[in-house]
Amino acid sequence: MEQTKCLIIGSGPAGYTAAIYASRANLNPVLYEGIEPGGQLTTTTEIENFPGYPEGIAGTAMMDDLKRQAQRFGADVRFGVVTDVDFTDRPFRVTVDGEHRIEAESVIIATGASAKYLGLESETRLRGMGVSACATCDGFFYRKQDVAVVGGGDTACEEASYLASICRKVYMIVRKPFLRASKAMQERVMNTPNIEVLFEYNTVEVLGDADGVTGARLRHSTGKELTIDISGFFLAIGHHPNTELFQGKLVLDAEGYIVTEAGTSKTNIEGVFAAGDVKDPHYRQAITAAGSGCVAALDCERFLLSR
Ligand code: NDP
Repeated sequence: MEQTKCLIIGSGPAGYTAAIYASRANLNPVLYEGIEPGGQLTTTTEIENFPGYPEGIAGTAMMDDLKRQAQRFGADVRFGVVTDVDFTDRPFRVTVDGEHRIEAESVIIATGASAKYLGLESETRLRGMGVSACATCDGFFYRKQDVAVVGGGDTACEEASYLASICRKVYMIVRKPFLRASKAMQERVMNTPNIEVLFEYNTVEVLGDADGVTGARLRHSTGKELTIDISGFFLAIGHHPNTELFQGKLVLDAEGYIVTEAGTSKTNIEGVFAAGDVKDPHYRQAITAAGSGCVAALDCERFLLSR
């Protein structure tokens, strides 16, 4: 069976940064990219807040750079999806694509998080045809048109503000009678004339045909229905961590995020580390994920040296 000192699962900024540090520490890491090589940032357009890029950089270009940087120091970056893990004793046993088995002295988990959807049939059918979970990626397609954003948190407010700058009108569909977002974001939304907040509404159906989204049918908490005409329907109702694989194998919190020892990347299993959005429900930034990938590689290196 193939053996490695350090196996990294996931290829966002956390996984690649862990690979850069681990390869420079001669741990010869093997990294499996997963279903979405490059992670969530490959679905965004411009990244303007990652230090070191004064002009901004495209998400895909940044992920490509990080990958090449890891490979330059010898990281073995592979296309493949980890489908099973056995952390009961060391070396850990990991299965890739249901068939390839590999033994690892240590594992760094950086599988990230994914956007949540409402779960409506019409929403699934129209995904990519007007339904999107990333306004910054897809908003431009709906320039000067009417769109809606679902959610009342900071992400929804940020996305609504961004869309308001390029679209004619933005509806915010909020299920509660108030916004959950920070005061500053709430004020920004309320002071933007082309954003209309529809409080206490839930989406019953996204309307559309083969040409894409045409509207949404909403229901107020009183039962009253309202149909809005829109061509873009954006979800901003939070994310869930990609930890299905680790259920029952690692300690997860109530929302499924991997629990790590405070200030470290150490999970409850010695030799298994976690980095990035998979353990971070709060900050979820490329730079914080990259920083946490670095922490995981350093923790991993110390663990391997101490044995
Ligand atoms: P949140 O969990 O904060 O908000 C999710 C929103 O979606 C809530 O309004 C919630 O409603 C609503 N929602 C959830 N499920 C459904 C559903 N099924 N139907 C309708 N509405 C639904 O997620 P965010 O992504 O906004 O933020 C996550 C974290 O990231 C927060 O801590 C936030 O502060 C932070 N963040 C910070 C930013 C910044 O500082 N610049 C920018 C973006 C995020 P309800 O309130 O009823 O639960």
